[in-house]
Amino acid sequence: MAAQRYVPLPESRVPVVAEPDVLVVGGGSAGLSAAVAAARNGAEVLLLERFSYLGGLATGGLIILLLTLDDGAGRRAVGGLCQEMVERLEQRGAVYYPPPNQWNNADPKLVEHYARWGLVWGNPSPEGHRVRYSAAFEPHEFIFAADEMVREAGVQALYQTWACEPVIEGREITAVVIQNKAGRQAVAAKVVVDATGDGDLFAAAGEPYELERVHPWLWFLMGGVQDVGQALDAGKGFFFHTPGRDRVLVPWGGEARVRRKIDATDPGEVSAALVECRRMVLEEAARLKGSTPGFEDAYISLMADQLGITESRRLQGDYVMTRGDLDRAFADTVARTGHWTKYDCVYNIPYRSLLPRGLDNLLVAGRCISVDHRVHHATKEIPPCMATGQAAGTAAAMAAAAGVSVKRLDVEKLRERLLAQGAILG
Ligand SMILES: Cc1cc2nc3c(=O)[nH]c(=O)nc-3n(C[C@H](O)[C@H](O)[C@H](O)COP(=O)(O)OP(=O)(O)OC[C@H]3O[C@@H](n4cnc5c(N)ncnc54)[C@H](O)[C@@H]3O)c2cc1C
Repeated sequence: MAAQRYVPLPESRVPVVAEPDVLVVGGGSAGLSAAVAAARNGAEVLLLERFSYLGGLATGGLIILLLTLDDGAGRRAVGGLCQEMVERLEQRGAVYYPPPNQWNNADPKLVEHYARWGLVWGNPSPEGHRVRYSAAFEPHEFIFAADEMVREAGVQALYQTWACEPVIEGREITAVVIQNKAGRQAVAAKVVVDATGDGDLFAAAGEPYELERVHPWLWFLMGGVQDVGQALDAGKGFFFHTPGRDRVLVPWGGEARVRRKIDATDPGEVSAALVECRRMVLEEAARLKGSTPGFEDAYISLMADQLGITESRRLQGDYVMTRGDLDRAFADTVARTGHWTKYDCVYNIPYRSLLPRGLDNLLVAGRCISVDHRVHHATKEIPPCMATGQAAGTAAAMAAAAGVSVKRLDVEKLRERLLAQGAILG
């Protein structure tokens, strides 16, 4: 193999273009929540996003199911900004979910009804499946609602901008170098939240992490379906009801469809998988059209514009949650989640799982927090990502205002603040 070549870069200086209290990197469901929470708690906030919209996988990845906001026993497990999003979507007529009096109901007909919306998954409990508090939503309306939340909170959002590398002095990130059409610039914030999903910042800062290779997904919507109920009855494909008329959601991809696992932080592997998955999506759409009653005039009306990546880097932070933490109470719980494939169990998420070991002004939120592979199965879902985002953003605002390390924050006060703002902490 040829030796790796390198190009020396001239020493350079980049202008500091912003000095907010809190910089949130990544505008997925976690970053959106972190930014809004930080701003509502008094911080001046800059939110950076490499693409042109908020929501990340929840919108651009067409993962348009909030699984789950309950504990699988009929009680709410996630509230706060995720619940607020459900209510905003409801006002826009863009969400579908079971009413509270149906949660935990084991009536097979009711369960089957919601399963057809993609709202019931996993292994049944001993008594069979039960209705969960999960929600199907319309992706564009999520983006509109997110824009509204960010604007109302006074967050400054900067799109089409990559965070490239942190500048570190001692235990502090003094600036984050960014890249966009204006060139290379820097943002110097008091506290930074890494909500990149892939942990780009903590990885570049040299913090320990685990990396998982995964089978990619590429979800898509088909329009022009004649009678979705009848099409589902025919049982000729894997698809769901979704908000909007004559449309279905096709959750395509994964182990059953894609041969190779990829490292989602390797652009070469991601690029090859994108092209291959798009080709196979075309084939699957043609197959559905040819074999499923009601799909004769169907067409791909929207395809995810990013691969569905369940997992990549996971922080190895101050505390790494493991399976043994199921139903365990922590004094520093700042978020909580049920399990989308299991009934009547909960993970309480400690503040320490949002903290890298070696930095005093970085918090981590969303699917890359400090948990093991098994716990990640639960904490990667959109509701818990929004809950850890809300916790990280609130903590960041409090640390910036008090001028203290995120490690020295009064966690009891943080919990009080989160509870007052609708979070559920158990
Ligand atoms: C196939 C699949 C099915 C799933 N099913 C469900 C489901 O049914 N229900 C459910 O609730 N969850 C589901 N999930 C999980 C869930 O969708 C994600 O884990 C969750 O949306 C992650 O949110 P996040 O904000 O942590 O990360 P992301 O949504 O990945 O957001 C990260 C954001 O950061 C931006 N970004 C990344 N790097 C940079 C950078 N360097 N600079 C600037 N911006 C950057 C990205 O563009 C993105 O907007 C599924 C996931 C997959 C892949």
